Amino acid sequence: MTAPPPAIVSLFGTWIQAFANAIDGALDPFGYDQGARLTSWYRSPSDNAREGGAQRSQHQLGLAVDVVFPFYTKASAIRSLRRAGLTVIEEADHVHVQAYVAGTIPDAAFRAAGVRV
Ligand SMILES: [Zn+2]
Repeated sequence: MTAPPPAIVSLFGTWIQAFANAIDGALDPFGYDQGARLTSWYRSPSDNAREGGAQRSQHQLGLAVDVVFPFYTKASAIRSLRRAGLTVIEEADHVHVQAYVAGTIPDAAFRAAGVRV
């Protein structure tokens, strides 16, 4: 689990902070003390490619996380994240949470983060 490096924080820190606040608020009743585990946060473009991530994956901007929830909180946690306005995708072995709906971040932002788009 990698935190966004300083170069990414300097570009997107305001949005990363808002994203973190939204997640923390949404997961307050279902979070880390209830067994949730954050398994992925920032990915460099090369790590993202190696892991088969989408070209415009928001992990590359520090604006997506992967979380593993225990079965007894998963459904409620997902509802809470969606109510907070976050985009949630249920994958086979984790829940992907991103700050913005896919396609709404300008390519210039990805290019600033070193992503080839
Ligand atoms: Zn993800």
